[in-house]
Amino acid sequence: MPLHKTNILKIYNSLSGEKETFVPIHEGNVGMYVCGPTVYSNVHLGNVRTFMSFDMIFRYLLHLGYKVRYVRNITDVGHIVDDVDEGEDKIAKKARLEQLEPMEVVQRYTVDFHEILKEFNFLPPSIEPTATGHIIEQIEIIKKIIANGIGYEANGSVYFDVVKFNETNHYGKLSGRNIEDMLANTRDLDGQSDKRNPQDFALWKKAEPQHIMRWPSPWSDGFPGWHLECTAMSTKYLGNHFDIHGGGMDLKFPHHECEIAQNEACTGQTPVNYWMHANMLTLNGKKMAKSTGNNILPREILTGGSEFLSKAFSPSVTRFFMMQAHYRSILDFSDDAIVAAEKGYNRLMEAMQNLKEIVPKNSSTIDIPTWKKECYEAMNDDFNSPILIAQLFEGVRFVNILKDNSATLTSEDLGIFTKTMQAFVFDVLALEDGKSSSDSNARLEGVIEMLIRMRNDARANKDFALSDHIRDQLIALGIQLKDGKDGTTFTL
Ligand SMILES: [Zn+2]
Repeated sequence: MPLHKTNILKIYNSLSGEKETFVPIHEGNVGMYVCGPTVYSNVHLGNVRTFMSFDMIFRYLLHLGYKVRYVRNITDVGHIVDDVDEGEDKIAKKARLEQLEPMEVVQRYTVDFHEILKEFNFLPPSIEPTATGHIIEQIEIIKKIIANGIGYEANGSVYFDVVKFNETNHYGKLSGRNIEDMLANTRDLDGQSDKRNPQDFALWKKAEPQHIMRWPSPWSDGFPGWHLECTAMSTKYLGNHFDIHGGGMDLKFPHHECEIAQNEACTGQTPVNYWMHANMLTLNGKKMAKSTGNNILPREILTGGSEFLSKAFSPSVTRFFMMQAHYRSILDFSDDAIVAAEKGYNRLMEAMQNLKEIVPKNSSTIDIPTWKKECYEAMNDDFNSPILIAQLFEGVRFVNILKDNSATLTSEDLGIFTKTMQAFVFDVLALEDGKSSSDSNARLEGVIEMLIRMRNDARANKDFALSDHIRDQLIALGIQLKDGKDGTTFTL
């Protein structure tokens, strides 16, 4: 029997503001859509956290035995700077600044995104569609919204009439806003815009002559509005009504609010049962932003090449650090915090090794079934990974007392214990054994120290041929030796 039959999963639904029991539309199946990256620059660590939260959620759903179709898109056109519809497409702007074809920008940063995610041990989504690959679907949706009287054309662009929509539906139900307040708080359009109301958003934008990314449409040569692609791609692959839609907290408004409005205006159905939003990552208590320099790139963690880091950390240590916080909580990144996480990760991995050596006995002095139940309860409570990790450290304590023979387990309990630890550590949290960079760094440093001692011995014995040979070989490997008063040091 699949585990999902016996596990009651609760999910915090941003739409209701409550934890709700998860009941999929089609029993045993889950359709999940997550807004992917806009590929106009390197993915930042906050994005990695968001996608890692949904990777953990995807993995737990799979672990429960659900058949999951996980769709995560690539935004390769239409994402407007500052979300002002009069603005410039982020990708087109980047292309202009870097003197590149827009598709060259898209290709470069899509490859980078995939490399980073692979490095951090992500499972690929089931489908990864691109906005540019779904222009026809987006045009079809616009046609329906216009036919239903909620969209209007003006000078070759098409806008969504939020006020008209709100007469029969509720615009603002996800973000908890209401349209009267929104209208009261926005400036007049000054006749500068083709929009009827300031809250209206673009479904289609007519391309300026210099705009390279453009497609023919019934209204103009142009490009789709950003919000539209997710409506087109989620419904194409998951149907007009599907289970889970996720994304970063910052996408709740306007992006997801607009998605709901488009879906309802097009199909008459509300698209999603459970809206999930992952919280942000701060750095040393402040918002991460490239412009202020308060920023770390994912690769800088792996190389230690950042002013905010004392050393390098492995992908698994980074993942363990992220999983120590609940996905809906703000997580603050700091050198101290990840150093502490590394110690915890190393203890966990050591226990996983020691667990293999434990020998079963005739009786059990630890209540493994209760512990196992508590592990599942943690994850069933809106994917509470920090509580799960606390349970896994209870498991570490079990390993230690089993190892020094102050506790015993029967063969059956030991089997359950080992299987559960492995499932949560390796499959759900996706930590990888033996990938701690501090371990391999320590080993490398040990070997270099040994060679330095051999060289110094050779010099003491006046065997300069050997001492020079060792030094030259190390230089060839990129390791520089420096002789000083206090002995020999090295740099990598
Ligand atoms: Zn989206």
